[in-house]
Order: sequence, then C-alpha cells, then structure tokens
Amino acid sequence: MINELLMFKLIVALAGILSLFLCLFAHFKLKGAPGVRPYKAAALFSSLFAFFYVFELSSTSLRDIKLWIMMEYLVMPFIPALLFIMCSEYVGQKLKIWVYYFLFSIPCFTIFMQATNNLHHLYYSSVGLRSDAPFPIARMEYGPFFYIHALYLFLCLTVSVLTLARQLKSASFIFRIQILAMIAGLIFPVLANYFYLNGLSPYGIDLGPVSMSLSYIFHCIALLSFKMFNVTPIFRDTVFDRMKEGVIVLNQNGIILDYNQAMLPIIPSLHAAAIGKPIKEILSDNSSLKTILDTEENCDYKWIYNNKTIYHQVQFSEVQNKNSLKVGQIVTFVNMTEKIELQEQLKQLASIDGLTQVYNRTYFLKLSNELLHTKTPERISLSLIMFDIDHFKRVNDDYGHETGDIVLSHIATIAKKCIQESDIIGRYGGEEFVILLPNTTREEASILANIIRVKASESPSYSNNTIIQTTLSLGVSHTLVTQPSIDTIKNLMREADQALYTAKKNGRNNVQIYLEADAKQTI
Ligand code: GH3
Ligand code: MG
Ligand code: MG
Repeated sequence: MINELLMFKLIVALAGILSLFLCLFAHFKLKGAPGVRPYKAAALFSSLFAFFYVFELSSTSLRDIKLWIMMEYLVMPFIPALLFIMCSEYVGQKLKIWVYYFLFSIPCFTIFMQATNNLHHLYYSSVGLRSDAPFPIARMEYGPFFYIHALYLFLCLTVSVLTLARQLKSASFIFRIQILAMIAGLIFPVLANYFYLNGLSPYGIDLGPVSMSLSYIFHCIALLSFKMFNVTPIFRDTVFDRMKEGVIVLNQNGIILDYNQAMLPIIPSLHAAAIGKPIKEILSDNSSLKTILDTEENCDYKWIYNNKTIYHQVQFSEVQNKNSLKVGQIVTFVNMTEKIELQEQLKQLASIDGLTQVYNRTYFLKLSNELLHTKTPERISLSLIMFDIDHFKRVNDDYGHETGDIVLSHIATIAKKCIQESDIIGRYGGEEFVILLPNTTREEASILANIIRVKASESPSYSNNTIIQTTLSLGVSHTLVTQPSIDTIKNLMREADQALYTAKKNGRNNVQIYLEADAKQTI
C-alpha cells in the first residue's frame, strides 16, 4: 500500500516536472504563438499545484495536509480561467476587459472562502482523515461554496471547448487539426474532475495535477504546429524582415500569423501582440484597407504618410499545404510611389512647356477638345484669346536670347494670374499664347483680354538691371457651342488669329474681337 502511495507521489511529481518543462519550453520556443502567455501561466500554476499536492500526500498530520491544501488553492483556482483565455487567444477572439475581471474574481473569492473555512464552514462542512485509506489522506464534506468553484471550473472548460469548436467549421485543414488537439487537451481535466468529484478515483486521490500535465502536451502540440506554420527564424531575420515590400501572412480565418518590418508604416497598429489576432481588429480604423483585404483581389492602395501620398500595389497569393489545400494567404504591399511619381513627372514634361510653365500646343489642344467633347453640358458659351508679344524680335536682338526667355516667361506668368482655374492656357508657338475660356461671353473675354494687355504693358520685365517694356496684341473669338465638332476649337483659333492680325495692323498693344459679319471692333 505504501508502495502504491510512493508510486502515486512519483507520478504527481513527474507531472509537476512535465508541466514546468512545458512552461519553459513555451517560454523559449513558442514565442509569438497565440495564447502562449496564458498557456505558460497555466502550466506554471499546474506544476506548483502538483508539487504542493506531493507535499500534501507526504504529510502525516491533518494540520499539515490542510496547510498544503491551502497552498494548492493559491494557484489551482486560476487554472480554468487561464485555459479559457488561452483558447480564446488561440482562435483570435478578443475578450472584453470585464470578462478578465469576472474570470479572476471568482478564483479570488474561492481562495478567500477556502482559507477562511474555519470561520464559516461554507467551503468544507467537515475535514477529517479518511479511515479507509492505508495512508493519511483528507476526507472532505463539501459546503455550498465548493460547488461554486466546481461549477466555475466546469463552465470555464465547457466554454473553452465551445469557443474552439465554433471555429472548426470555417477553419482550414491544418487549423482544424490544431483546434482538435486543443480540445483533446481540455478533455483530460474534465474527466479527472468527474472521477474525483464522484469519488471514483482510488482513495479519493485528486487526479487533477496529472491530467493537467497530459493536457498541456496536447496544447503544446497545437501551439507548436501554429509556430511551425510560420517561416523558419533564419529566413525571417535575414530575408523577410529586410524586404522592401511589406508582407503580412494571414491564415484562412484572417488571423495574423506573421508580418515583416516594412508593414509597420503601412499598418502602424501592428505590434508583436498582433500575431494571433484577426487582421480586421488591427485595422479597426482603416476601412479602405479592410475592404481591400476583404475583397482579396490585387489592387492599388493610396494613402498618406507624413503628408506625402504613398502608392502601393496590393498582391494576394495563396498559401497551400502539401495537399494543395488553401491554408492562408500572403498579402504583399509593393511600393509604387517612385514609379508613379516618375510617371507624373513624365506626363508633366510631355504636357507643360518648360520655359513658360503653361501647356504646350499639343496638350492645350488635347485638353480643349476633351473639355468640349466629354465635360460640357449641351450649350456652352466658349471664348478664346490669342495673343502675341509685340516686336519681340527686337527684344532678342537688343538684349539677347536669354533675356528674351525671361520676358516670355514673365508674360506667361501675368496671363496665368489673370485667368481662372477652369480656363486653359497654352503656348501656341514662339511668343504666341492661347487661352480657352469656357462659360465666358464675348464681352467677358474681351474685358479679360484687355486686363492682360494693360497688366503686361504696366509691368515690365527685369534682366541684368535692365527694364524691358513690352506690349501685347490680342485677338478674341467666341462661339455658342450646341453641337461640338473637331473643328470647333480649330475655328475659334483661326478667328482669334484673324482678330490678332487685325490688332497688329491697328498699331499693336490693342484687343480685337472677331465678329461674324467681319465687322471688327476696337477697344
Ligand atoms: P510682331 O510685333 O509682328 O509680332 O513682331 P515680332 O518681332 O514679335 O515678330 P515675330 O512674332 O515674327 O517674332 C517672333 C520672334 O520670337 C522670333 C523668334 O526669334 C522669337 N522667339 C520664338 N521663340 C522664342 C523663344 O523661345 N525664346 C526667345 N528668346 N525668342 C523666341
Ligand atoms: Mg510677336
Ligand atoms: Mg509671333
């Protein structure tokens, strides 16, 4: 009989050592796996529970037995709560803060009631030594508060199993196996408690510590396989983290398995504890990225970082297991900002005249026709001003070509300042400019042309301490567009050119309006 006790003490001690080993193993080898922190705490508490239980079984007096039972109660009541938290974290379910308070308040209450039992006898109605056992072992009659603890333990384990089981349907094959391993782990303490509470264990020995150790083996397997799903550490450190592209690895349920450093600016809420959590939770305030990840289709993602627009191409690629089953996906963020900025620059170079910073002739015509054919309502009053610098050849001859460039750019700046955002200005050639004025009457256009003329004549250009005074001749044309055609802009330009020619003939520095009846008015 004594040998039997020795054997049992040895088994419980080994269970304690195993729990402690699994706690240390998790600490060093399972870093980052979801639920590993509550797992470590539960394994540590279970190992202490087992060691205290060995001391209880080694005690020879009721007083010592009671002391060790009290010690066991310092750790044991928390284990069900820790197991439940572990399961929730494992499936990526976030618990509300009040749930944590609730989970830990009942064990605290249990400890208090157990420690003060002598005062109220509500936890144990009586405690004595068993007469039928060949070695000293406690015989308890349980009070009502013991059953609160028992119910709590049962509920924690049941809810843990349900939490895991709920994920089974939607989980991938690998994750399903992992969840089943977790559930198997939870069955042991349930069975052990059933035997213990129903007096089915030999001599009323508590099978809890041994069953716990066995259950941690299963949980460890589940956590380990979760970790194995991640890429190996060497790959992570040398390649993954140094990649320019942001990469995030998700399992089939959208739980974050891994991500690299380049992801941090893209999703600043990512942090070490994000692993094992649903990506949707981490992206709670970024609805556009959430939609992209929901759609799972390659697309562009534009966002602002330090007041700068960043362009990313988001690419999705499936992760498959050996049996070609989809077990997750890799989302890659390729930074396209430089390329797109370059494209914008090239577009700018192709459309803007380098010297005067207004549209070149080709782009002016393109924009004008676009405006006419795609963006206008049925009827639009359209005016056009064409102007030319008077005696510009002389500027070049008197002051040199460089000074001529300064004058050209100065005149363009004056004209740009006079027009509205909806107007289109272009350099038509040499020192000749055109301005298309949508929704502008002939009168409004001629007033604007005159403003430009006056401003140009009143604000000379400066170059090498020389003041260069220039004037402009301007021609205005107008049409009421009802049916736009490819000739509309061409005709307007031809007519404005004709008016400009008249302005030159009329002595320069004046505005001429093209009139249908060929009657031209001087302002
Ligand atoms: P008018 O009053 O009749 O217009 O006389 P004008 O001297 O301005 O005659 P015209 O319009 O024929 O002369 C255009 C001159 O503009 C000829 C050319 O050398 C000069 N020019 C054209 N493009 C540029 C340029 O990009 N830079 C400079 N500096 N000069 C240019
Ligand atoms: Mg000229
Ligand atoms: Mg000219």
